[in-house]
Amino acid sequence: MRCSCCQKELINNVTLRELFFSSSQRCYHCEKLFSKIDQATACPGCGRPNSAELCSDCRLWQQKLGFVMKNYSLFRYDDGFRQWIEPYKFTGDYRLRGAFVLELNRALQNYRSYLFCPLPLSKERFEKRGFNQVCGCLDLTKFSYELLLRRSELAPQSEKSREDRLRMEQPFQINGPIEKIRNQKVLLIDDVYTTGRTLFHGAELLYEKGAETVKSLTFAR
Ligand SMILES: [Zn+2]
Ligand SMILES: [Zn+2]
Repeated sequence: MRCSCCQKELINNVTLRELFFSSSQRCYHCEKLFSKIDQATACPGCGRPNSAELCSDCRLWQQKLGFVMKNYSLFRYDDGFRQWIEPYKFTGDYRLRGAFVLELNRALQNYRSYLFCPLPLSKERFEKRGFNQVCGCLDLTKFSYELLLRRSELAPQSEKSREDRLRMEQPFQINGPIEKIRNQKVLLIDDVYTTGRTLFHGAELLYEKGAETVKSLTFAR
């Protein structure tokens, strides 16, 4: 058995009990990178840790757009998570994509009636990176997904300031026929929930085109 993150062979003899009941398939080193967010005390809007009530950011979104996202995030966006996402997303170490496939499968099971829609990269970004970092992870789960949105934007997200992102115009268009999303439930999937702006753009467009419900799931918050 190999570590689902770094792919190193797990040296210890894995018992059946560990195989079936362990909460991850990561080695001791990689296990420490991921801190799960306790859902019982996370913000019901954005999934922020330790905010059992709707947080002030979510209340602002609600005022501005008239809805709350209902985002679910698996892990805290902390130093450990950055130690995973930087080599994966920015250096392009594609082997790391299975790091939390177990947790991802479990989380997605809660959205059985939803269409799964990873946020798309711009064409330029996709060509430079060679893969969509969210699709890479989803490809190892037992669920299928569809790019219901496509984007055209000039600068990649991580080079923008927080203010720039909040000001940004709608970067998405519906990809394909609108009938696909009309009266459907859609789960937007992204790697990190930062301001929420990009996810809200996606949700706004999907609602405008007739989606019934839009929620989101991110790997980290
Ligand atoms: Zn490992
Ligand atoms: Zn919130």
